[in-house]
Amino acid sequence: MLSAPRSVTRLIREFSKLPGIGAKTSERFVYFLLKHNRENIDQLTLALNELQRSVRQCDQCFSYSEKSTCDTCSDPTRDTSMLCVVAEPKDVFVFEHTGEFDGLYHVLGGVIDHVAGVGPQDLRLRELEERIKNLNIAEVILATNPDAEGELTAIYIAQQLEHLNVRMTRIARGLPTGADIQFADDLTLTNALKSRRDFKRP
Ligand SMILES: [Zn+2]
Repeated sequence: MLSAPRSVTRLIREFSKLPGIGAKTSERFVYFLLKHNRENIDQLTLALNELQRSVRQCDQCFSYSEKSTCDTCSDPTRDTSMLCVVAEPKDVFVFEHTGEFDGLYHVLGGVIDHVAGVGPQDLRLRELEERIKNLNIAEVILATNPDAEGELTAIYIAQQLEHLNVRMTRIARGLPTGADIQFADDLTLTNALKSRRDFKRP
């Protein structure tokens, strides 16, 4: 039996490691790239190389940036008394897209998820506490997703940082419970930010 060339099966295997991409889709990608002009492959290679080479974590907020300190953190016009705490770097860009928030961000690097084996020690909580103190933050907006893990994480942070005496707010339920910030439209997200509430322990 003749099997596909090794380099073909290898790339199929690599694509199928991506979230939501099964073996069949992965196979389609590879044969598409081979069939339709090889320039696609060059562009893809360049884009991947650039991603690998130039994207790093901001040394302040831990979002993605091509500089050591991202544009948001180094922007002197931002309100440095507000800190919006999000789970992942992609959430920063979603909030930025609304144009509604002009404070700073802090990326936790995930949420507490017992099933996935992610505990508080895996999140950037020590850094969060340091930044709240150093930046003289007046309000911390807990903007994790309104799902079980996001809620749990928000509650945990509010409890852990209670001693700092800083105002803690939670984005409003304008977002449907269980929704992903990533998929919320600008208006919904803007409303969720605007109608945030002071965090109360359940
Ligand atoms: Zn930053």
